[in-house]
Amino acid sequence: MAEIVIRNLRKEFGDFTAVRESSFTIADGEFFMLLGPSGCGKTTTLRMIAGLELPTGGEIFLDGEEISQRPPSQRDIAFVFQMFALYPHMNVRRNISYPLISQGMKRRDVRAKVAEVAGILGIEDILNKPVGGLSGGDRQRVALGRAIVRDPKAFMMDEPLGALDAEFREHMSEELRALHDRMGATTVYVTHDQLEAMQMGDKIVVMNNAVVEQFGTPQDIYDKPATLFVADFIGSPSMNFLHFDGHIEAGQSNATIGNTPFAVPQQLESSNGKLVLGVRPEHITLSDEASLRAQVLAVEYLGTTQIVLLQCEYGDLKARVDSALTVSVGDQVGISFKADTITLFNSDSGKAIRSVLNDLALNNSGISSSTDNDSSGNGDHHHG
Ligand code: ATP
Repeated sequence: MAEIVIRNLRKEFGDFTAVRESSFTIADGEFFMLLGPSGCGKTTTLRMIAGLELPTGGEIFLDGEEISQRPPSQRDIAFVFQMFALYPHMNVRRNISYPLISQGMKRRDVRAKVAEVAGILGIEDILNKPVGGLSGGDRQRVALGRAIVRDPKAFMMDEPLGALDAEFREHMSEELRALHDRMGATTVYVTHDQLEAMQMGDKIVVMNNAVVEQFGTPQDIYDKPATLFVADFIGSPSMNFLHFDGHIEAGQSNATIGNTPFAVPQQLESSNGKLVLGVRPEHITLSDEASLRAQVLAVEYLGTTQIVLLQCEYGDLKARVDSALTVSVGDQVGISFKADTITLFNSDSGKAIRSVLNDLALNNSGISSSTDNDSSGNGDHHHG
């Protein structure tokens, strides 16, 4: 069991705040990603969980016990350093058994434990080899073995695959995930790579500028970004943003960009002023009839789909459409999108306009509302 609860966690270095009032929960057995750009506070958060850094404020609970101020040795959490940090003069067996020997475990028990771990990692045949001559993959497995052998409650990993080339990185990330699924140990994994986070994680915390922007499953974060930052950071190509002055009436199914009507999810709360409509490339439909007009600036062929770069009055957009659709540079096209695929943001706060459904649920009113309200009436739908 290893549930980790982070509550209002804060870290200051002098007058610089590296982590600001972070709160999230890592459930037992989860593969949990800390994601964000360089310098946002991911590593500092991980180091505080492991005890390598003490928080300035807030609390960390491991299985209900507060551990915020305990030294690392009393936390039973393994920090997997750069995967290649092995003892080069020792063979594989010695590298893996080292933590147990230094704990004073009996030789026979050490042998049994190392054999078990080697079995899990599939490295029984290299136990007596020096680490110096091993392939990158095997060195990485040995480094993992050294962390696993202690049977810690949880693993902390800081960009463990960061130094690898793309192909090998993909292979190792699959192996790491499979290993996690076999062992079921809570794992917290730092990365700045949104694709890696989406592919590997059960849950993701997205951080920016020392602040937790959003916490949820990969799908939550992709489909329902809570902030403009998250919407922009996740997905490739990233979400498109149309900037306009507008008014959203609570519960109404339509709004307008300029004079162009478009459908909004009905359950939104009302909002005024500078708004941003976010729509993912794969949710844009091109058709001759749609009244929101755009010009095709470029077309990038990708096989089954193509990315069409468009310019409209409210900003540039990228649409991912079926390659069978004929589009050429210079074409004038109409663009439309379904209500349930868009996210509206308040431009000043950068926050997604909230759903009134949450409030209704809180009030226990039992009112439900459809989100699929495709009344944009803009003709053909070509699904890319
Ligand atoms: P990266 O991937 O670049 O390591 P990160 O999100 O992991 O980014 P952190 O390493 O947590 O970021 O650092 C967050 C901020 O805190 C950075 O601006 C960093 O310079 C600062 N910082 C980290 N450790 C210290 C320290 N010991 N003293 C002063 N500032 C620090």
